[in-house]
Parts: sequence; structure tokens; C-alpha cells
Amino acid sequence: MKTDLELAPTLTEQPRAKADTVLDSTSATVDRVVEKPKFRFPRTLTIVPVRPDGAPEWSLRAVGIPLDITADGELELNWKNAPDLPTTALIAFLQEADGTRRVTGIDIESMEAREATGLRITGRVGGFGNEILSPEKLTPALDKKTMTFQLGFAPDILDQWAAIGALERVFVDKVEVCPRCQGVPSFREGCPNCGSANLENECLIHHFACAHVGRISDFETEGDVVCPKCRTRRLIVASDFDYVAGPYRCLDCQWNNVEPEEVAQCLRCDFRFPAYQANTQELRGYRAHRLDPLAYVPAS
Ligand SMILES: [Zn+2]
Ligand SMILES: [Zn+2]
Ligand SMILES: [Zn+2]
Repeated sequence: MKTDLELAPTLTEQPRAKADTVLDSTSATVDRVVEKPKFRFPRTLTIVPVRPDGAPEWSLRAVGIPLDITADGELELNWKNAPDLPTTALIAFLQEADGTRRVTGIDIESMEAREATGLRITGRVGGFGNEILSPEKLTPALDKKTMTFQLGFAPDILDQWAAIGALERVFVDKVEVCPRCQGVPSFREGCPNCGSANLENECLIHHFACAHVGRISDFETEGDVVCPKCRTRRLIVASDFDYVAGPYRCLDCQWNNVEPEEVAQCLRCDFRFPAYQANTQELRGYRAHRLDPLAYVPAS
């Protein structure tokens, strides 16, 4: 993969940071705080805080933030001149040479102000930010309470992430929905007059030799099958005749010679309507190109 080729040669181990704790040099009994070995992620990141409603806090973004990673997956960001963060969720961006923005959610576990390096944030891949980027939230799915297709977040929130390149809009599907409420309907063959599915159709006999089509009762006489038109006797099914579906009759409104049509009924508002009156709804979702910072940590 292109990314690996680009990043691997520059991967360097970061010099070990000094221990946080100020040690009393006179006390020989105090153990030194051993920091886990860290790897400096080879690129700097753009960091965007996630508001509690899931929208990006773009005005508080930070560009060029270095990332250190420990082997057990802890991430450390040092953010100079960091603002007061209104959240513990971040989304980190990495821009590839081809313009693709790779993104990951970072769940903040601790924040500590330091004089030299600014705000030291530790966290892990995950949290609310990762939720926003997950395929389950970004693909419209049937919400069984409203019988409508919904995304995991309000589209205007996801659009804000799309506007800054964290998400890409994608076509998902087209579905037929209720013209009144956009609910999902069920479909059946029904009467074009009243919409009822209570239809009956008579089974008819088609005599091959003379092409007559008629009611079964008109063909059957005392155990024999006789064509009422050409009077041929002892007709045998399949070789002399076959059964064909006759015209439908609606048992609810008594319409005859019915050509059934597709009838829809909304599962949300119960509106029953000819299927051709359904609205076509285009389902659009979003896609995130995921960044897995831990994949860059060399195996030890
Ligand atoms: Zn009817
Ligand atoms: Zn006949
Ligand atoms: Zn409806």
C-alpha cells in the first residue's frame, strides 16, 4: 500500500520523554516512573474536537499536531496553545498525497497542561468520534419505530464532517416509500378499484385443437372432458388441453374482469395506494477512510 511505503522509511523512535514526576533526588527509595516506549507517528495530524451533538468544532481545530503511540495502543498528542476543549472526543485527520483524508476517532483519557509542549492529551482510538465514523452510523437503515430509513446521526451533522473532508457522501440505494409520510410500505396484488387483495380468479380450460377457452364446468360432463365448442371427447390434460388463469373478480367490491395491480400499504401511516404512486427515495450515506495509527507501530 502506498501509505506504508511513504511512511515506513521515516518511522523513528521518539526519544524517551522525561518522567512526569519530579523526583526528590535525596530519596533513594523513590522508584523512577518508567514511561512506556513510544513511537513517533511519522506524520503530523489535524485534530478536530467533536461537539456533544456530534458536529465538528472546526473553529478549535489544530494543525500539525505530533502523535506518539505506545505499543499497547495509547496515543499521546501534544497540542501547543490548546483551547479549553468542550469535549473528550476528537477526530484526527491525515491527508494523503492523493488528497484522501484518513480519519480516526480518539477518545481522550487525560489532559494535562504543560509549559513546554502545551496540552498533553492521552487517549485511545475509539469513543464518540469513532462512533461518528462507523459504517453502521453512516449507512441509512430501517428504523423500526418510524418505518423510515435513518442515519445514525442527523444528516446536517454528517454533512458538516463531509464539508471538512472527514466523510464522503455515497449513493446507497433507491427505495419506494409512502407519498404521504415517507414510511416503508408493504406490497401485494390487489383490486385496482378498491385496493383489496381479496381477489379470486377462475381456472379455465384451453383446448389446443380448437383454441377454445372456457369454464371447467362447461368442459366436464359425467366424468369425461368434452370440448363444448368442437365436441371432441376424452380430452387429456397436457396433451389436449391445459388450465389457464381466468379473469379476476374482487370479492370486496365485486368488480369483474379485474387486472390486478400492485397495491402498497404504508407500514407507518397505513395509507393504501397504487404502487405506482409511491415516491422513490434515494438513500444516501457516507463513508470514512479510516486511519489506524496502531498499524504503523513496528512490531517489537
Ligand atoms: Zn375491489
Ligand atoms: Zn374444442
Ligand atoms: Zn405513510
